[in-house]
Amino acid sequence: MQVDILTLFPQMFAPLDTSIIKRARDAGVIKINLHNFRDHTTDKHRRTDDSPFGGGAGLVLTAQPIVDCIESIDPDHKAHRIFMSPAAPTLTQKRVCELAKHDRLILLCGHYEGVDQRAIDLCIDECISIGEYVLTGGELPAMVLVDAVARHVPGVIKAESLVTESHSTPNYHEHPHYTRPSNFRGKTVPQVLLDGNHKEIEKFRKG
Ligand code: SAH
Repeated sequence: MQVDILTLFPQMFAPLDTSIIKRARDAGVIKINLHNFRDHTTDKHRRTDDSPFGGGAGLVLTAQPIVDCIESIDPDHKAHRIFMSPAAPTLTQKRVCELAKHDRLILLCGHYEGVDQRAIDLCIDECISIGEYVLTGGELPAMVLVDAVARHVPGVIKAESLVTESHSTPNYHEHPHYTRPSNFRGKTVPQVLLDGNHKEIEKFRKG
């Protein structure tokens, strides 16, 4: 899978260079490209924002650099293009699994008050929120989406790890986990996990 992320703050994406996602990137299973759409602005001062028509607080990201950037990286509109937005439907595990089937995703990160609606109308296929709260930018939401989706791209983590996970079916929450030592500060591991009876273990884990 290839993910192209449009952001004014590419330096925020260091977490995608760590741990499981880094390994997947190094193995070529997932490719992540960061694009600073400031590089596409035609403004002589390299501005990418302006005050909102109609007045009001804050700054709005202008359509031109965003639209030009998206068109330059996906001229034939082959990618599924997503805008991270707190006003959109919230990401679910079901949607995560569906998104993992795309060969290519583009994620647009807003900032300040948001993005000129015409950039969204012209270029975006879907708007996604990561929860009912407002962050300063779409960078953390984009990383949340990439991380959750990457786990479902074949080769990123073991397929069997995904089967009985929390949210793999609606309202399902996985059983608690234990590892050595069997007694930690007087708290012991449930005996059934130590007895080696796999039928009983399965029954215990199903709750
Ligand atoms: N004025 C906007 C909020 C802007 S927050 C409003 O009231 O709806 C700035 C940017 O951060 C947004 O454009 C979006 O890209 C991102 N963002 C903030 N919270 C988010 C969330 N919960 N999910 C996804 N993106 C979010």
